[in-house]
Parts: sequence; C-alpha cells; structure tokens
Amino acid sequence: MIIFGTTGIKSTIKEGKFLCPQCAVEKTYKHKKVNKFFTLYFIPLIPLGSAGDYVECQTCKGTFVSRVLDYKPDQGRNEFQSEYEKAMRHTMVLIMLADGEIDENEMDTVHLIINKFGHNDMTRPELEAYVSSVQRNPEPVDTYLKKVTPYLNEHGKETILKCALAVAAADGNIDKSELEVVNSMAKAMEMSGSHVKGIISEMTEDKKPQFSQN
Ligand SMILES: [Zn+2]
Repeated sequence: MIIFGTTGIKSTIKEGKFLCPQCAVEKTYKHKKVNKFFTLYFIPLIPLGSAGDYVECQTCKGTFVSRVLDYKPDQGRNEFQSEYEKAMRHTMVLIMLADGEIDENEMDTVHLIINKFGHNDMTRPELEAYVSSVQRNPEPVDTYLKKVTPYLNEHGKETILKCALAVAAADGNIDKSELEVVNSMAKAMEMSGSHVKGIISEMTEDKKPQFSQN
C-alpha cells in the first residue's frame, strides 16, 4: 500500500513585539509561514507552494491573521480574535447542527464551553445569532477544518479537540459515533493518533474519581 498525502510545514519569517489582543499587553510574537508539501510515507517530498501565514503570541500561543501587527488598543478585540477561537466556535456549532436539530440544553452547553475555553466571552443572544449565520452555510466539520488548519498551531488544535470532546460528553458519555467525529476532526487537522489519545485520556481523567465512588 502506498501512503501519500499533504502536510503543512511551518517556518518563522520574523520575530518581534506586538500588542496581543488576547493577552491585552505587549508580548513577543513569531510570524510564521506555512508551506504545503506532498508527502510519501509521511515524508515531505514536493513543495506545493504557500498555504498562508499567521502571527503567533509566544505567551498565550494564540494565532492571528498577520494584520494583527497593526492592532491598536482602541480597536475592538473581536476583530482580531485568535484563529483557534474562531475555529473552536465554528466547529462546536457545526457539531451541534449535525443532527439537524438544536435543543436548549445543547445551546447552553456550547455557550458554557465557549466562555470557559475562550478569551472573548459571548452572550447567549450573540451565540444564537452566530448559530443562525452558520446554519445558512453549513458544511461538514472536517471540510471546514481542512481550510483553517494552516492557521492553527498545536495549542489551537488541542483546544478545538477538547471543546468538541466537551460537547460530546455533555450528555453524560462519549459514544462511538461522537468519537468518530472527533477522530475525523483530528485527521483533518493533521494530528497523530497518539496525540489524540493523549488529549482524550487527559479529558476523561477528570471523571475518574466519580467512577471510583460508585
Ligand atoms: Zn497573547
């Protein structure tokens, strides 16, 4: 069997200080360029050109569009929300919409998770408006993730996966079909199987004391 695919390789093109919208103070950044490569047996062989660039805060590990380097304190923070935060919201809403219906409990859970894992709190009406906008243009969660993966670092990918797992676990357990969705999301983000297993065991560890009491 011949195993081939593509991968994004990141390199730092510039470093300096910037005003991080998430940290809200001046921090060190790295401006990274992503180059796409054709891989054979996981070895990058043929360069396929640039797949984008992003600015990474070295403190909070948030990644941002490169325009963030011109960010001024009087500008709204929401315009420069980190890429993982945008993707984290979007994927949770896509997962919520996957079964064709939205119940109040699901909406409450997603709202809670956004404000727990994110830096930009969202009100319930803001979330409802956002859900309607995603609903008008739905797409499979892995299709969406493939598009945003070049702008995510490991921290961002892990956060997105943790939020998806938190949504899946909201009804009390993570079932097989939910795990399949999580695995296809990880694959779209070019994460290794062992990395995913590590995140899942880290997430489910919190629950162990509850099981041992039973
Ligand atoms: Zn930061």
